[in-house]
Amino acid sequence: MTDVADSSSIRRLSEWDAAELRTLTEEYGSPLYVLDLERVRQNYRRLVAAFPDADVLYAVKANALGDVLSTLREAGAGLECASAGEVKRALEAGASGSEIHYTAVNPPAGDLDWIVDAWGDHPALTVTAGSADTIDRLADRGYDGRLCLRVNPGIGAGHHEKVRTGAAAKFGVPAERAVDVLEDAADRGFDVVGIHAHVGSGVSSDQLDAHREFVARMGDLARDVAGAVGDLEFVDVGGGFGVPYREDEEPLVLESVADAIRDALGAVDARLTIEPGRYVVADAGVLLTEVNTVKDARETTVVGVDAGMTTLIRPAMYDAYHPIRNLAADAAASSGEGGRETVPQTVAGPICESGDVFCADRELPVSERGDILAIGNAGAYGYEMANQYNSRPRPASVVRGDGDVRLARRRETVADVTRPEREARRISAADRKTDDPRASDSDNDLVR
Ligand SMILES: *Cc1c(COP(=O)(O)O)cnc(C)c1O
Repeated sequence: MTDVADSSSIRRLSEWDAAELRTLTEEYGSPLYVLDLERVRQNYRRLVAAFPDADVLYAVKANALGDVLSTLREAGAGLECASAGEVKRALEAGASGSEIHYTAVNPPAGDLDWIVDAWGDHPALTVTAGSADTIDRLADRGYDGRLCLRVNPGIGAGHHEKVRTGAAAKFGVPAERAVDVLEDAADRGFDVVGIHAHVGSGVSSDQLDAHREFVARMGDLARDVAGAVGDLEFVDVGGGFGVPYREDEEPLVLESVADAIRDALGAVDARLTIEPGRYVVADAGVLLTEVNTVKDARETTVVGVDAGMTTLIRPAMYDAYHPIRNLAADAAASSGEGGRETVPQTVAGPICESGDVFCADRELPVSERGDILAIGNAGAYGYEMANQYNSRPRPASVVRGDGDVRLARRRETVADVTRPEREARRISAADRKTDDPRASDSDNDLVR
């Protein structure tokens, strides 16, 4: 929402236009996700500039909104998908098979059925398998197309234990078994095109040594595989590039990360592929939420807001820090009314869980009922991880791009939450040839 930060490596929460954001909650209600598609495009372009010789696939799971996918696709990005649903969205956004990688992690049967079916129409699709079982299950379905092997390099990094995938046994074939598995796949007629690993998410500058070590192992493995089954088309070192969430944290210097990756990889006769998710969308999004309760508790002031862990789960799930700004206080300060005093505040949501807080005892300008708070860096793993716990409908999303702002996804209602139950009643009533008044779709439609 600013014209300043065109190509800078981070857009801070303070740079968003407070008045414009507040107008959006007046028009679209609260809580509200706001995503700036122009910033998404800029982040992608900065990655391409730093990695000119690499293929950049956007990891869809960071933010799968159709507008994000079409924006990135038009800018030239490929799409890395974690489920059949994401592949469906990628195709709907206009991606061709050759622009899509599907990464299968313990894939449900329905996902594999759907993918193999889609492969019939899009034979250039690439499937990344993380176990020999997955390869067998693909073969059972007649798939012998482009295959990439996800390996477990035994090194993890990232912002939280739960996202350090690189060493977690769950992900990938142990690197020392990769050559055997790929030889076997090649013998069975698969088109072996690449190897893949993802070290973890939110890798920061101080973890770059672990990241370099990980890339070096991928380079060694690529040379081993090339010796055994022939040259690979690409070596995919995953995503994980971190962004600064704290106001005083410095952004990664992409060019040095890129240099380090090229150095560590060494000479391989294959293209480098990267799969950033968070980096592309995190600072392009904010979550707006309205203060409805201000309570003096014993040791802190509790500020109750209408967004919670169902809207943005990262603080509850990963103890993640997100910057928070009081837009009303900023407006008062800039209109000459003078700034508000700051006091320690605990910003908490409406969910009946003690973990449902966005921050604890953080110094913020005094909050008043009706104020709008902006929560920064909410573009990645925000709406994607939202859920309906406490029968709480998911929020609306608006996008900003090409000079206008529009609703990209309407706010859910309680009727959206309960619809599968009503449909189930309708189905059972039809089976029994009776009427069930509770199967009506008209109740609740206006309840948020
Ligand atoms: C989640 C994920 C990514 C993206 O991670 P970011 O930290 O968002 O960059 C890339 N590749 C795979 C396989 C993933 O699971």
